[in-house]
Amino acid sequence: NEFEDYFLKRELLMGIYEKGYERPSPIQEESIPIALTGSDILARAKNGTGKTAAFCIPAIEKTDPSKNVIQALVLVPTRELALQTSQVCKELAKHLSIQIMVTTGGTSLKDDIMRLYQPVHILVGTPGRVLDLTKKGVCNLSECTMMVMDEADKLLSPEFQPLVEQLISFLPQSRQILLFSATFPVTVKSFKDKFLQKPYIINL
Ligand code: AMP
Repeated sequence: NEFEDYFLKRELLMGIYEKGYERPSPIQEESIPIALTGSDILARAKNGTGKTAAFCIPAIEKTDPSKNVIQALVLVPTRELALQTSQVCKELAKHLSIQIMVTTGGTSLKDDIMRLYQPVHILVGTPGRVLDLTKKGVCNLSECTMMVMDEADKLLSPEFQPLVEQLISFLPQSRQILLFSATFPVTVKSFKDKFLQKPYIINL
């Protein structure tokens, strides 16, 4: 397979090649075309397999920069991972006018609020801060049709799970969830049964 096979925006393809990716990795080969159809995904994938681009590429492709609303939410369990993920996403979207914002605990809430007064298309963050901003009405998820959960086993820990479930209630009915996890504990299985709609299963 080739990245050309997915009929991506030319500017996105440029970002992909400039990052040095020549062809899709196995997880990308499975997830990109499925994610582009709008289907939910449940993927078992380890770190180092290229999973970041596996969800960032469809998120960027589906984002319409002319609509000034959050169209994709990427939830991760740690600030470190949020920064890494948003960096990859920014590089891939470098030739598009898509605004990507990171928001996590441990930073100024006021700065995040100010930032959200400007256009944001893709929001990458940890559940607590995203929920805070959403409940305050500063973060509008009503047109956010894609939610990614990276390291979902950690996002479904007792600490985070209630926050993630609350966040889902702010998404529109026609939302797509892409769930990536290295392990499938019972928490992930029950989350899948409760929230995913006929997910496409990737098991690498
Ligand atoms: P990840 O699993 O997302 O942390 O990615 C692991 C590493 O693989 C990172 O250094 C990526 O930049 C790299 N990578 C991701 N996709 C590709 C690809 N299609 N071709 C070559 N390298 C890639």
